[in-house]
Amino acid sequence: MSKIRTIVCLILCLSISPTLKAQQTDILRKDVFTLCSDSLEGRKAFSSGGVKAMNYICSELQQADVNIYRQKFKYSNQIGCNVVAVVESDDKELKDEYILIGAHYDHLGIKNKQGKTVIYNGADDNASGTAILMQLARRMQKDRHLLKRSIILVAFDAEEEGLIGSRYFSENPMPISDIHQIKLMINLDMVGWLKDDALKISGIGMIENGKTLFESDKIKINAKRFDHSMFTDSDFSCFAKKQIPSISITTGTKSPYHKPEDDAELIDYQGMNDICNYIYDVVIKASNEPVLKSSGKSATRHKQKSDMVSFGLNASIGSARQNYHFGNVTGRNGYAFDAGLFMQYNKYRFLAFRIGAEIERNLTKRIEGQMMMTNLYIPFSIVLQSPLQESIGLNLIFGGYFANNLCMDMPSEMEKNVSIRPNDIGLTFSVEMRIGSFGFGVSNRYGLLNMNKGSLDRINYSSGTFRIVYYINR
Ligand SMILES: [Zn+2]
Repeated sequence: MSKIRTIVCLILCLSISPTLKAQQTDILRKDVFTLCSDSLEGRKAFSSGGVKAMNYICSELQQADVNIYRQKFKYSNQIGCNVVAVVESDDKELKDEYILIGAHYDHLGIKNKQGKTVIYNGADDNASGTAILMQLARRMQKDRHLLKRSIILVAFDAEEEGLIGSRYFSENPMPISDIHQIKLMINLDMVGWLKDDALKISGIGMIENGKTLFESDKIKINAKRFDHSMFTDSDFSCFAKKQIPSISITTGTKSPYHKPEDDAELIDYQGMNDICNYIYDVVIKASNEPVLKSSGKSATRHKQKSDMVSFGLNASIGSARQNYHFGNVTGRNGYAFDAGLFMQYNKYRFLAFRIGAEIERNLTKRIEGQMMMTNLYIPFSIVLQSPLQESIGLNLIFGGYFANNLCMDMPSEMEKNVSIRPNDIGLTFSVEMRIGSFGFGVSNRYGLLNMNKGSLDRINYSSGTFRIVYYINR
């Protein structure tokens, strides 16, 4: 029985699918050409061309029986409008969870170039994403019975003005009450130039099982766990910043990016067709996953402010000495060990600032005997962090320190020649290998002040230690 069914299915698929494919490619082409026609004047946000584009999207979706809302918003005395389409599932348990698909429909409008008016039609950016979004809405509405989680599709306005529409939606996620009912956000921006290349996907590390969810044997994929680049910012950012797993899908910036030449004739419609089918499959799969959960991880630039500050503990052990520049005695190596904590402000992915507090105990030797000191250190450093792999990286840490002597012990014979100044300032330099929550490396200190208020010798302190670090929240 099942064999016969499989064969019948196969014959049906083989006979239907080429026509379906052709149909979908034609629909995508028609939508891109319409959105890029000169009468829409480059779909600039808050312009009459933008309103025309919005009305076209609405009427197309209404014809396909998709439930839509026009979500109007005000921005510096102008009115923008997101088009929100909702495909509700009937599943008792999961229908209140949502998968959001987004694409911005606005572009740059008309500009004056050397006395000529030039229309920026924005075919790849982002009539392509809008067309796939519209087609997905039509197909999801038709295939509602296949859904467990519900689907929201949003054509965002005013992305080019600074992600205005998507930010508004993320603050007012009509028609749902809580933004965190959205379990997955998929953003389409510039998806018209596949041309046999791999489809670029980033952010799959934000969701548990992201790799399995987004893998496919039907289309070439280049999947990254996180989107770190500030140059590929788009509507997913506002959602990623709310720690909602947010996936960026694009064919890259191969098209004439933000140029008037970005036209509908150059688009790869076969590629768009394949992308549309791929996202359809992923969304149906995600909609039916028993659990769709955030991994709790995100790109540094999407971390909340509180995550930008990390704390750590450190300890080191090594050698210490007093350096004599003139005088009649020489210093010999002793030892030093210290322990402390630090706070680090991760300003960028590659650059952080660190301040700490450490207690150091050191022993240094000179001809008259040995001296023990306990010091408080306040190091402040610049941290250059380079990720080598997901959880492995290299840190270069350099900066300065302030030291205060807490107590000291020296033989009375030494006291004739040495009288220690209570404070020192100096330079630090460390190299550290980061593996997960730990860091291992070497650290050097070099004191700049003469420690000796006493008679003959000029003394500078230095130490070189092996260091271990534990990051409490990384
Ligand atoms: Zn764009």
